[in-house]
Amino acid sequence: MDFPSRFDVIVIGGGHAGTEAALAAARMGVKTLLLTHNVETLGQMSCNPAIGGIGKSHLVKEIDALGGAMAMATDKGGIQFRVLNSRKGPAVRATRAQADRVLYKAAIRETLENQQNLWIFQQAADDLIVENEQVRGVVTQMGLRFLADNVVLTTGTFLGGLIHIGLQNYSGGRAGDPPSIALAKRLRELPLRVGRLKTGTPPRIDGRSVDFSVMTEQPGDTPTPVMSFRGSLADHPAQVSCWITHTNARTHEIIRNNLDRSPMYSGVIEGVGPRYCPSIEDKIHRFADKDQHQVFLEPEGLTTHELYPNGISTSLPFDVQLEIVRSIRGMENAHIVRPGYAIEYDFFDPRDLKHSLETKVIGGLFFAGQINGTTGYEEAGAQGLLAGINAARRAQELDAWTPRRDEAYIGVLVDDLISMGTQEPYRMFTSRAEYRLILREDNADLRLTEQGRQLGLIDDAHWAAFCAKREAIEQEQQRLKTSWVQPNTPVGEAISQRYGTPLSHEYNLQDLLRRPEIDYASLAELTNSPVVDAQVAEQVEIQTKYAGYIDRQQEEIDRLRRSESVSLPANLDYSAISGLSKEIQAKLSQARPQTLGQASRIPGVTPAAVSLLLIHLKKRS
Ligand code: FAD
Repeated sequence: MDFPSRFDVIVIGGGHAGTEAALAAARMGVKTLLLTHNVETLGQMSCNPAIGGIGKSHLVKEIDALGGAMAMATDKGGIQFRVLNSRKGPAVRATRAQADRVLYKAAIRETLENQQNLWIFQQAADDLIVENEQVRGVVTQMGLRFLADNVVLTTGTFLGGLIHIGLQNYSGGRAGDPPSIALAKRLRELPLRVGRLKTGTPPRIDGRSVDFSVMTEQPGDTPTPVMSFRGSLADHPAQVSCWITHTNARTHEIIRNNLDRSPMYSGVIEGVGPRYCPSIEDKIHRFADKDQHQVFLEPEGLTTHELYPNGISTSLPFDVQLEIVRSIRGMENAHIVRPGYAIEYDFFDPRDLKHSLETKVIGGLFFAGQINGTTGYEEAGAQGLLAGINAARRAQELDAWTPRRDEAYIGVLVDDLISMGTQEPYRMFTSRAEYRLILREDNADLRLTEQGRQLGLIDDAHWAAFCAKREAIEQEQQRLKTSWVQPNTPVGEAISQRYGTPLSHEYNLQDLLRRPEIDYASLAELTNSPVVDAQVAEQVEIQTKYAGYIDRQQEEIDRLRRSESVSLPANLDYSAISGLSKEIQAKLSQARPQTLGQASRIPGVTPAAVSLLLIHLKKRS
């Protein structure tokens, strides 16, 4: 087979953003090249081998709903699954899986290697070919030229990567990998705003040197959750436990005594670190009153003894790392397999991007993942998918696909980034979404798979399974509406007894399910209902129980959309509108939008602010 030199889309980088970007473009039928440093590191987890968590699983499930690989690879590699916030409402419930990093990577690679229209090539991209503000291709380290009018850059922490351990530092993309220096230099020549961020990782521990008997065991959840809408328990390998221990006064003293040897506190590191994943030295400094911090010992895989001690990310010198680790209960004799470190890298201000993730200044050049100032595999994967879709659509001469904030967390993520930029590594939370009750992790497929099919991302088997699920939900809802329970019948009595509330008259099952004390599983059992698929049952239960809230949120979305054309008076005094932040007041005063729709598209003007504007206009009229 001839190796082609011209492609429709070239993706640079085989991390979480790059693999989803390449898969999406190829699934849409365009000729795609994935160019990466090392084929062995395709889908590599640079830090914690875990996928999901609050806000993040929402992204993973959206990627899955659009045919992406992350959730399925998590099911194939997941060795401990839990549902976080399981006692809270469905909007904030989140699935998290600890993964065997080898199995995860293998699953991603297998998906890539079996994807039609996708070529994989191991080479560093050193240069971009740009003509008249339009990207035309890529030049590799060996001097090979690959041509494409659409290039997606997903270089993660590699651009100008500088690894710090104590006061020593050296160039690297992450431990064991080379940095991207030539490409970083080339990118700095383009008219794009660039900055430095940093992130860090803890030392890894040999499990054979740990005393688990003094730690608290944390098994996975039963029943075991599944990450992908297309996954099943049969995909999961063996399941294992994590272990919990704590730092203590001695640990904190060691850290305090050595802060002058920390690259962060001695001013060697300039980049800003992730607020929600702070290093242990940061935690001791910021929360000085706390006398202990939790440390989760998480297995890195089924075929290794290595453990990831979640909670003690550090860039202190190695001798201090060893002291810290050995001061912690159960780790007194611990052997460190790999030292912890911090890494500083270039990122580009996402305000220089369009909603499609194409740069504003170079046609066809897209950025996705950590390069845009985000942190996390899930945030990277979601952006990769979107950039891959839009690179393919551009190649097909179609308009960009840009999901709105009320349609997907992917929409929230991109809108936040391109409208507000970021001064620190950005991670997703459910609190960032205004319409949390609509954007749940459990309904990501119902929200997005149909759009995915139209975009050309969903194959026939996936589509058929989705349609069958959607139909089964409708049928079950219909059955609940039309199944009646009479008082003073054996079933009616059983229900009264079980839930402690007598039935005053006849009820249909839907009305009964709306009651807070009644859950779907026990109601189905008491009424001898036909068994339905677990995903169908979950959907029916949530949609029934939260119908009032969901409808109200949907009405708000519809109302805002309808009011797009409402005029804003030219002399409107934004500073007099209470509830609007000073920043938004200033933006509106300066831009003077003519309609609410225009106001809503001003970077940084949130749907909540648009709602306030609408209320204000109504009061005036
Ligand atoms: P990456 O996964 O970094 O992938 C980049 C890919 O691009 C790699 O395959 C690389 O080889 C390739 N590449 C780079 N330059 C070139 C080039 N010129 N030519 C060809 N290929 C190239 N996230 C968290 O959420 N929490 C954390 O605590 C956390 N800690 C971290 C600690 C460390 C030390 C590191 C390195 C990362 C950490 N992360 C953390 C971040 C997480 O790893 C990233 O968010 C995620 O991997 C980003 O995905 P990506 O696809 O953007 O980039």
